[in-house]
Amino acid sequence: MTGELAEAVVDLAAIAGNVERIAGATTAAVMAVVKADGFGHGAVPVARAALAGGATWLGVTSAAEALELRAAGLTAPVLSWLHGPRTDFAALAAAEVDVSVAAPELLDAVAAAARATGRTAQVHLKIDTGMSRHGATAEGWPELVAWARKYEREGVLAVRGLWSHLATADSSPYGVTAQTAAFAEAVAYARDAGLDPELLHLANSAAAFTAPHTHFDLVRAGIAVYGVEPVPDRAFGLRPALTLRTQVIMAKRVPAGTGVSYRHTHVTDRPTTLALIPLGFADGIPRGVDGRAQVLLGGRRLPIIGRVAMDQCVVDAGDLDVRIGDPVTVLGPGDSGEPTAADWAAWAGTNPHEILTGIGTRVPRHHDGKGAFTADVRVEGALPFLHHGRKRR
Ligand SMILES: *Cc1c(COP(=O)(O)O)cnc(C)c1O
Repeated sequence: MTGELAEAVVDLAAIAGNVERIAGATTAAVMAVVKADGFGHGAVPVARAALAGGATWLGVTSAAEALELRAAGLTAPVLSWLHGPRTDFAALAAAEVDVSVAAPELLDAVAAAARATGRTAQVHLKIDTGMSRHGATAEGWPELVAWARKYEREGVLAVRGLWSHLATADSSPYGVTAQTAAFAEAVAYARDAGLDPELLHLANSAAAFTAPHTHFDLVRAGIAVYGVEPVPDRAFGLRPALTLRTQVIMAKRVPAGTGVSYRHTHVTDRPTTLALIPLGFADGIPRGVDGRAQVLLGGRRLPIIGRVAMDQCVVDAGDLDVRIGDPVTVLGPGDSGEPTAADWAAWAGTNPHEILTGIGTRVPRHHDGKGAFTADVRVEGALPFLHHGRKRR
């Protein structure tokens, strides 16, 4: 840490290794999902490491995220999937970013942008197979397919993919089976209607490891890329990539009966040492975890007590000899006994995704092993694997 109060260190070799595990679990291609700034890890360095690890696609939600990857010089195929009528589809077409479309209105906007720029837009049509979130309903699918086919004939767009998203891959194989059947039906309908998509994709991280019948041509892996095991009580050899570290900025001895932090929700029951750390809910420490959450300090797991504030929180260090500047690990892979993102998720009643994406912008991200991944990785042939072979440690 160079003058900073806290840092998130991202192990890019872990990212590449995790992608290698995902690729090893499927015969399909792997899309590394780097939305939300790479789940809080830094989208561009994560994307480079993921491509080096064998991913051939990158997935994001928004035009801004896609264009950030292109601006960084990444040339790999990118799919962006959340758009509105005001999305700059012309900029996406110019940057050769594939776009997901689930409604005819947006297909019109994509087609207009393609006409304006003189480029054929690459489109992935999304069907809702049971998530009830994004995607055309089964009733709306024929109309979406018909409009797409019309525009395809006119040469303004090409339907490169058909896709959907699973709701229960980490919990119910029955839900997965039902959604896979609905997807196959939608695909068959689209083919009958004249579409000839090159890519079918349905699986997320959990399905990548547990449901090969959902893999089709491409699996879209998010949380597994970052090293969080996607299925409860199962382990696929993934390694958490992010370590959140800080330091003690104040240490004080207090007597029993001392109220701690706002509203004194915690009162000490013995004389103890309070260690203050400069991370609060604005930095992603969930506010309601006092009494459950722990950090690693002086080689021990110690509890956070009292209300987590916006910028700081208090650790009960007991009789440990704590000094200003002592290192604190908030979360990491668990190698030294520090909590993991999964531990924090359990304490906060959420999922590891929310913990990782919640790490605030005030915390600088530092990337370990960056040098190995700075070159743009092209995805033709065996090059990513060769590249990866050189930088393994
Ligand atoms: C976030 C996201 C993913 C990745 O999901 P994980 O469960 O994190 O692997 C895949 N597809 C879509 C549509 C997503 O929004």
